[in-house]
Amino acid sequence: MPWEELQEQAVAARLLQSSLAHDRIAHAYLFLGPDSGGKKTASRLLAQALNCEEGYPCGSCSSCYLIASGTHPDIQVIKPEGRFLRLDQIRDLCQRAGNTPLLGRTKVYIVWEADKLLPEAANHLLKILEEPPAATVFVLCAKHRQTLLPTVVSRCQEIWFKPLVPETAARELEAIAGCSFEEAHLAAYLAGGDLAAAKNWVDKETLTKCSQFIAVVKELPQGKGALFKAAETFAQAPAEFLPLLQAWYRDLLAWHAGAQENLYYIGHKEIISQMAAYYDTAELIHCNQAIENTCQLVFGRINVNVRLALEALLVQLIAER
Ligand SMILES: [Zn+2]
Repeated sequence: MPWEELQEQAVAARLLQSSLAHDRIAHAYLFLGPDSGGKKTASRLLAQALNCEEGYPCGSCSSCYLIASGTHPDIQVIKPEGRFLRLDQIRDLCQRAGNTPLLGRTKVYIVWEADKLLPEAANHLLKILEEPPAATVFVLCAKHRQTLLPTVVSRCQEIWFKPLVPETAARELEAIAGCSFEEAHLAAYLAGGDLAAAKNWVDKETLTKCSQFIAVVKELPQGKGALFKAAETFAQAPAEFLPLLQAWYRDLLAWHAGAQENLYYIGHKEIISQMAAYYDTAELIHCNQAIENTCQLVFGRINVNVRLALEALLVQLIAER
């Protein structure tokens, strides 16, 4: 059954199936959640269900086939050209929306990355959402509702898609990104199960940074020399290194709590166990708080001397043990 493709998103799938079964389809949906969470699949299944010759998405009739291959004339997907969704794209979509379906029963207009609508494009879309044409369903997909016009949000039925379970995201990432499972696992956990964000994370440069991080962090217990080397390295790319440090000390605490099976850095259990032995639990809680405070300082304000902030943090991390 095609709906099984959405088994990771059981709630979203049930909501859509129930609307279809009771013939209570909204004229506009807002699919919210990470890019990898199944919004694309759900948009396709909804379009197929609304046009399937069997009355449900059979996945094999000519209508289902055309929709799956992206060639059905009544289904249109628009996405940002460059950084934004522009007015002319929305204007074109609204013009087509006035036509009767060419082949199927219901036209479906899917707006991918709706959080990139420019204000004038969003206002134009709002007009058609306020007076929706017959036999037409709009599906707006976005990561966060906060980035959309509240008036647009209020015209749509919201359906939430949760991030993948990190274990699942890690397995998928390993298959598509050609990295090791340990690397995929760390990326999936750091990205909170957002497969698209994790995929960005495992590009070559970040993996190099990760190896650099491990080489530096494991020397930290040796004291001052290692500390300044670490500060120098981390200051070169704090946006990459600080989350890695945060995840590392989270793992040290997890190790203390007996959660050895729930580490982010599953490929480095030996170093984690050795380093965790330098601290007691209360000290590790302080370390984690100190890292959090430094992240807020470095990422939340301008004119912060990042190198000094990192040195101060690392002194604290060493002093705690
Ligand atoms: Zn079908």
